[in-house]
Parts: sequence; structure tokens; C-alpha cells
Amino acid sequence: MSFDNFLTAEQQQWRDTCHRVMDKEITREYIRECDMNRQYYYEGFEKLHELGMVTMLIPEELGGMGADTMAYTLFCEAAGKYSMDFGGAIGVSQFTAQNLIHYGTPEQQEQFLQPFIEGNNRFAISISEPHSGSDAAAANTRAVKSGDHYVLNGLKQWCSGSSATNAVICMLVRTDPDAPKRQGLSVLLIPNDTPGMELRKLKTLARRGTGTNQIFLDRAKVPVENRLGEEGQGWEIITNHLQLERVSIAASYVGCAQQAVDDALAYAHQREAFGQPIFKFQTLRHMLADMQTEVDAARLLTYRSAGMMDAGQDALREVSMAKLFASETLQKVTRQGIQIMGGHGMLPEADMERYFREGMQATVGGGTSQIQRTIIAQTMQY
Ligand SMILES: Cc1cc2nc3c(=O)[nH]c(=O)nc-3n(C[C@H](O)[C@H](O)[C@H](O)COP(=O)(O)OP(=O)(O)OC[C@H]3O[C@@H](n4cnc5c(N)ncnc54)[C@H](O)[C@@H]3O)c2cc1C
Repeated sequence: MSFDNFLTAEQQQWRDTCHRVMDKEITREYIRECDMNRQYYYEGFEKLHELGMVTMLIPEELGGMGADTMAYTLFCEAAGKYSMDFGGAIGVSQFTAQNLIHYGTPEQQEQFLQPFIEGNNRFAISISEPHSGSDAAAANTRAVKSGDHYVLNGLKQWCSGSSATNAVICMLVRTDPDAPKRQGLSVLLIPNDTPGMELRKLKTLARRGTGTNQIFLDRAKVPVENRLGEEGQGWEIITNHLQLERVSIAASYVGCAQQAVDDALAYAHQREAFGQPIFKFQTLRHMLADMQTEVDAARLLTYRSAGMMDAGQDALREVSMAKLFASETLQKVTRQGIQIMGGHGMLPEADMERYFREGMQATVGGGTSQIQRTIIAQTMQY
């Protein structure tokens, strides 16, 4: 592979292992079935947990692999190859686990992190609300302290993975309505079977396996000891791992975009029209050449961000570029992939229609393309 020059021998081996696991242990057929049936990836999660991949970012002394960002990026690229939703289902837990390592009390680590390390729970992140998506700090789900509990009322929106068994939701809530927008927020850890909380699955275009929910909160009681960090520290906590999140989702988009090109290329060689494989038509050959060029560019941007993060550098601009370009590339190459496959590309068994649907979510979730461009522009000095 032409990217070997950018990776050490150990990284190449790790990348190949991750792809082997996806092809042999998880398989595209399994992912297709979960997507079609809107069914959570329990077996896939368990398999990757057994292999230590789900907890790879946890320090070794706590029972994880202590992997660096580059190794995690290579894992996410492989995990996203048949569905960025599968990569996302595994990935979303990482950020709360990191929050627990940085901000959690020993009791919180015992209650929430240890079961995650042992494979007995998972995490979902609930920031968005019906009226606050890009403007995430406008969240106004209220948490009012009453004795040793908070009482929660409000509506959260788009919480992916929150209805899976034993999911703990890391939720952004407003504890002080009078403080400036970002200072009145706190983060609570809430098991998804908490009374007063009702989850309703949304019939979304994408992220069908993980499942995305509305969360209705009607006098839900959450112990004060479930608050992560201090009251008012919510914005800092919830945005603390944004760079890690964005580089990892960019990697899943790259993985899926590469698979889309590979599938389209294979089809172009097999499918015949006018007595020859359609790959012989220059118009399609050039389309494929452009698709691969853009995927390579997205991969380079993603690896650059991971390398900078491992070097301890601030990669806000580079991560935003990677997320922006990889998501738009996924959208573009899957649209072209369907064109190359013709009618066949619209069938679930061709997988391209799933890649395409997920590409449509990629430029919205995790910060929209417009927001990424705004961040990049803010870093451009004149
Ligand atoms: C399938 C799915 C799963 C999701 N999973 C989760 C999850 O697990 N947890 C969670 O908290 N959230 C989740 N989200 C929410 C996601 O993060 C938001 O949808 C996203 O941040 C955009 O917010 P919005 O949908 O409210 O759109 P809006 O913020 O209302 O944006 C609408 C349009 O306006 C544009 N816009 C907004 N502000 C600006 C600006 N300042 N400059 C230029 N353009 C702007 C946007 O780019 C977009 O084009 C999920 C969303 C989806 C669709």
C-alpha cells in the first residue's frame, strides 16, 4: 500500500491486523444485517472488546492497551470500512472513558470505568437538543439540585447508542440558568434505565445500527455523585476530547470511502456493457481515478492530524480540515459509486447505498461542514 512510507513497521502490522479482524471476524454481511434490521452491534462490540480494541486508548495500568492516537486512527479507519456507523458505535465510548480518567473520582471510575474496561457497559454522549445542535452550549435541559440528587426536566435529541443494553449516558445539562451560556453547564453520568427518562428511537437515514434517540426527561433523579467534575465545568469536559473525536471519525470516513472506491472498482471490472467491462470506458476510469485521489488526500490529512496530536501539538485546524474533507469525500465518492454501479448500487446487498446514506450524515454529525470551515477560517492569520 502506498501509505507504508508514512507508517512504521509496527503501525503497518497493526493496520493489517485491524483490517483482518474486520474482514474475518466482523464481516460486511454482519454489518449489513445490523443496518437493515436497525439492530445494535452487540456481537461486534463483544468481539472487539475480547481483542482489546474497544479499550485500546485506556492506559495499560488500568487494563487497556495504552495506544497512541495514530494506532487508534488506524483502528478507526478499519472499523469504519463497511460502515462508519460501526466505527462510531465502538468509538463513542472512548471519549467518556477519557473523561472519566481525567475528571472522574475514584468512586466514579469504579462504578462506570471499570465495567467498561471489563466489557460490561458502554457510553453514549448527549449534547444536542431539538433547538441546539451546532450551537451546543445553548442546551437548556435543566438539572436542579435537591438534596443529594439533581432533578432533570427537558428533551435531549440525537443521542446515538443510548438505548443499547447497559449504556451510560454522558449528558450535558444546565445547572445554572443565570450564568453565561458556557458556564452554567454540567455533565452527569446517567444509566439509561433511570426512572423518569424515556428513550425513543428515531427512524434516521443513517446510524441505523447504533440507533439514535430522543431522551425525554420528566423529573428524572440523578445522584449528585454522578456529576463529572465541578458544577459549571460541563462545557470544558464535553469539549475536552473534540480533537480526538474528530480525528477518529475522519478516519472512519476514510475507511468507508476507500471501501466504496474498492467496491466500485471491482464492480467496474465485473460488469459488462456493449461487450466489454465498463472499466474500459474512459469516463468511468477517470471518475475512479478522481475518487481514489480524493480518498488518499483525506487519508493524508487524517494521518497528519493524528501525528500532530501524538507529538503533543494543538491540531485544531488540521483535525477540522481532516473531518471536513473526509466527510465530504465520503459523500462524493459514494454518490459516484452508485453512479458506477447503476441500479445495482441501490440495493442493500451492494452496500454502496449504506455508505451513501452514512456519507449524508457525515457532514452533519460531529460538527457540520459549515462549522468546520468556520473553525479553519478562524485559525487563518493575515
Ligand atoms: C444520525 C445522527 C446522530 C447523532 N448523534 C449524536 C449524539 O450521539 N450525540 C449528540 O449530542 N448529538 C448527536 N447528533 C447531533 C449532531 O451533532 C447535530 O445534528 C449537529 O451538530 C448539527 O446540529 P443541528 O442538526 O441542530 O443543525 P443546526 O445546528 O440547526 O444547523 C442547521 C444548518 O445551519 C448551519 N449552521 C448552524 N450554525 C451555523 C454557523 N454558525 N455558521 C454557518 N452555518 C451554520 C449548519 O451547518 C447546518 O447546515 C447526531 C445527529 C444525527 C443526524
